[in-house]
Amino acid sequence: MIGKYLPVRCAAHGKVQEIRLPSEMEVRCPNGGCDMPCPKVLSCGHQCDRKCHPVDDHKEYQCQVTVEKACPRSKHIATKICSEDFGQCGRMLLRNMPCGHIADFACHLADESLQCRAPCDRPLACGHYDCKKLCHQACSICTREVFLPFPRCPFNHQATVHCRFRAEFEEERPNCQHPCPELLSCGHHCTEVCGDACTFQCIEAVDHQCPGCGQRMEKPCFEEPDDVRCDLCTYMTSS
Ligand SMILES: [Zn+2]
Ligand SMILES: [Zn+2]
Ligand SMILES: [Zn+2]
Ligand SMILES: [Zn+2]
Ligand SMILES: [Zn+2]
Ligand SMILES: [Zn+2]
Ligand SMILES: [Zn+2]
Ligand SMILES: [Zn+2]
Repeated sequence: MIGKYLPVRCAAHGKVQEIRLPSEMEVRCPNGGCDMPCPKVLSCGHQCDRKCHPVDDHKEYQCQVTVEKACPRSKHIATKICSEDFGQCGRMLLRNMPCGHIADFACHLADESLQCRAPCDRPLACGHYDCKKLCHQACSICTREVFLPFPRCPFNHQATVHCRFRAEFEEERPNCQHPCPELLSCGHHCTEVCGDACTFQCIEAVDHQCPGCGQRMEKPCFEEPDDVRCDLCTYMTSS
């Protein structure tokens, strides 16, 4: 027995299909035509990838075929939808930076937008190569130490000065802080610092013979020998 059916004829192919159930429509004429591929060739050169359809919308249709495209900047190849733009190329591209470094950045980033992240290798204003920052950042402060002669020291003693305080040092002209190298008239070393006046009273312990009893003892260098007696003689004369 032949049941009821709806004959559906496709204009493009002339194909007549017999539809018996509404659910068959989706399978046999999904886009309103027949179940064969649309034969139209799009402007991109690809055949329309839909099933046969009665409406000729091929000028507006966005081709969905995947193709290999080359990025506009560097011709990097990537798989894209035919009708879509390449978009941002994420491949890395070596750049010669204006600072002289060579750095890797995503292809789509414009040269003007790049910040060099190499360690800074420029000399600081003081001449030291001591910058701790990145190339695109403002330079850091010098952390080195320098040896500078104390400006008024006749012995050319040197101070250890943080490079960043060099100007202050040269302006303040501090006194020399080294031990004074002078010999006193007694033959002992001065015990003051170099920048100060020399020792007035030498307190170096020297051998001494008590003028009272003749006992060997020590006394500070500066004291007159006749004035220094041992404890016992001092006691005897004071009582
Ligand atoms: Zn296409
Ligand atoms: Zn690219
Ligand atoms: Zn750089
Ligand atoms: Zn720097
Ligand atoms: Zn420095
Ligand atoms: Zn000195
Ligand atoms: Zn001295
Ligand atoms: Zn002395």
